[in-house]
Amino acid sequence: MQILGTILAGLLGLAFGSFLNVCLSRWPEGESVVRPRSHCRACGSELAWWENVPVASWLALRGRCRTCGSWIGARYVLVELAVGVLWAYQAWGVLALATASDVPAISPFLHWNLYNSLARTLAWFLFYWLVIALAFLDAENLWLPDWLTIPGIVIGFASTVIYEAVGISYSDAPLPLQQTAVTVSVQLAISITAAAALILLIRWIYRLVRRQEGLGLGDAKLMAMLAAWLGLPGALLAFFIGVVLGGAVAAGMLVLPKRDSAAWGTRRLPLGTFLCVGGVVSSLWGTAIVDAYLRWAGF
Ligand SMILES: [Zn+2]
Repeated sequence: MQILGTILAGLLGLAFGSFLNVCLSRWPEGESVVRPRSHCRACGSELAWWENVPVASWLALRGRCRTCGSWIGARYVLVELAVGVLWAYQAWGVLALATASDVPAISPFLHWNLYNSLARTLAWFLFYWLVIALAFLDAENLWLPDWLTIPGIVIGFASTVIYEAVGISYSDAPLPLQQTAVTVSVQLAISITAAAALILLIRWIYRLVRRQEGLGLGDAKLMAMLAAWLGLPGALLAFFIGVVLGGAVAAGMLVLPKRDSAAWGTRRLPLGTFLCVGGVVSSLWGTAIVDAYLRWAGF
């Protein structure tokens, strides 16, 4: 049951990743994601159903259009695999919990916690889809649209508050649901504000020192979104990972032979992409990383 569910979630993830590819190609052009049907971006020939199968079609055609032979890009297969793997991983965790509860109930609250975890898993599916969308939009177009980040903040806030408040209300030392919901909401709102403020502060300092824009407001909204889902420590960890990764890539670009020196020198790094990668790492292993650090630091 656990294995079956995980495979199902993975396949569903591949399908949603495939749809995301259509969005990533069409949103920047302002085109509809529903019509017309899938076609080659180079020659316009419509794709047959068997050319639309996630990952498999890309591999069979070796990433090229069947009609004109132009390179489709590695992004198609990367996006599909990323959504598929993350959804499968998330499903594996919650299904482990669900199958464990087949054993006679340990706590009267186990069922509530199970429903709560299932709801949270569906929310995580959305989070991963959004984060992958933003990562690739920023990498390809230096664009973090408000109509993705702001709903991401709102839904993340609602999902985190519900998950944590219900979790506390149905724990071994329960508190009234309304009271915990208010407390969690206030704490989370402060975390979101602090995360966005951090980016705004760096942006302000950068402008004072360099007299030009370094960070976009989109990055601040993205940080707020990460805080809404991961909490402040998780968002700060994502930021740290993002900055280290971005720095490593920037250093690599300076060292490697330049293909087109003019473009390389002025190319802005998509900080949002690195923040998204940091966000995924933080969501998967955040607690483990923070615990390991605290142990190492001697707390
Ligand atoms: Zn073509």
